[in-house]
Amino acid sequence: MVIGGGAAGFFCAINAAQDNPKLQVAIIEKTGKLLGKVRVSGGGRCNVTHNCFSIAEMTKKYPRGSSFLKKAFHHFFTSDTISWFEERGVKLKAEADGRMFPVTDSSESIINCLMQEVNKSGIQIMLNKSVQQLSFKQGKWHAAFKDDTILTADYVCIASGGYPSALQFDWLRKLGHHIEDPAPSLFTFNMPGNSITGLMGITVEDAAVKIMGSKLQEQGPLLITHWGMSGPCILKLSAWGARELAARNYNFTVMVNWLPASNEQTLKEKFQQVRFELAAQKIVNRNPFGLPQRLWQYLLQQSGVNEDIRWADLPAKEQNKLIKNCCGQEFEVKGKTTFKEEFVTAGGIDLTEIDHNTMQSKIAPNLYFAGEVLNIDGVTGGFNFQSAWTTGYLAGKAIAGNVL
Ligand SMILES: Cc1cc2nc3c(=O)[nH]c(=O)nc-3n(C[C@H](O)[C@H](O)[C@H](O)COP(=O)(O)OP(=O)(O)OC[C@H]3O[C@@H](n4cnc5c(N)ncnc54)[C@H](O)[C@@H]3O)c2cc1C
Repeated sequence: MVIGGGAAGFFCAINAAQDNPKLQVAIIEKTGKLLGKVRVSGGGRCNVTHNCFSIAEMTKKYPRGSSFLKKAFHHFFTSDTISWFEERGVKLKAEADGRMFPVTDSSESIINCLMQEVNKSGIQIMLNKSVQQLSFKQGKWHAAFKDDTILTADYVCIASGGYPSALQFDWLRKLGHHIEDPAPSLFTFNMPGNSITGLMGITVEDAAVKIMGSKLQEQGPLLITHWGMSGPCILKLSAWGARELAARNYNFTVMVNWLPASNEQTLKEKFQQVRFELAAQKIVNRNPFGLPQRLWQYLLQQSGVNEDIRWADLPAKEQNKLIKNCCGQEFEVKGKTTFKEEFVTAGGIDLTEIDHNTMQSKIAPNLYFAGEVLNIDGVTGGFNFQSAWTTGYLAGKAIAGNVL
């Protein structure tokens, strides 16, 4: 019995059934929909995995669960995901940033493939059935549902995804497993009332952002939105800082270096050179650092620089302020906004209680876990799905191997 009709549950069910035709496999799903997240992910294109073939590099993308996955990836990795889908008629392609999608650019290709495999393998699907409680009696698992019905199974794989509240994990805690409390990961920063939001829509291709009073820092594209800041750099920070930022109730200060190749000292030297080279030019018209023009104007305003001034006439005080703002401008963050494109929950089943080769519980018999229910989460880019495929595959294979 596989509990949860998402990516991990499907992968477990299909690989178990195909590896051992003697198994009778059922997927139990609490909603009326299957593969809901697969459908909406990657803006409806499904970012299946990431174009990375080094386990060491890949595991750097998981704020939680990286060493567990390092071992699991040795059994089923990105290259295996690509072949698995290709062997079943779905070719994947990589984009410049490494994200991999079906060549059709439609998540329906992935869904159709998984549904076809489920049908071909005789897997039973039960919708609108929410497991309330699991118990192990006389060598069998008993799953109790809201409508007082009970289903029994020799083996259970729990692939129920992430839950936003600790209470929702109660039925799993009762199995004897320890749960790392959930916290959102992959969110954007709110800066209510901050004038930077007036620059919404601007992307700075390379910015460095540091969270003050912590070791958290990231570099990469930063998007200014009408509520604050987003983009890969911010999302990565939110993932690595998921726990720390939750503890601060999402109130903290960030320092942005808009020119991460420079620091205050090196920028001061560059300013000397620019003042000389562009002496007669108006400072507003000649932005020598490649920053978006609106951001440059904003930085001039924030530094009290008269836009009509020529480079040669920039007073020392304003210059120092401008250099400071270019290399280390501070912003107050008050709250977060969930990144709807790819939302995941940090937290879940404690990995020390799971065998990384088989996904089997070390606590309860014949019990397996796969996907986001585990305390594993990655940054954006296909890493979360890869974790679901790998853990689902391993659980499926292990269950199949048990039945003679
Ligand atoms: C909008 C969005 C976009 C995303 N985009 C990407 C992306 O582009 N790339 C990427 O790598 N990741 C992406 N993710 C993350 C990724 O979708 C998840 O990490 C992945 O789907 C987890 O798979 P899963 O099978 O573990 O869980 P889920 O997909 O959450 O499936 C779990 C299933 O279990 C069911 N269930 C829960 N409890 C019970 C119960 N008690 N009884 C029966 N059924 C139950 C749920 O209804 C659900 O259908 C995205 C997430 C979201 C929300």
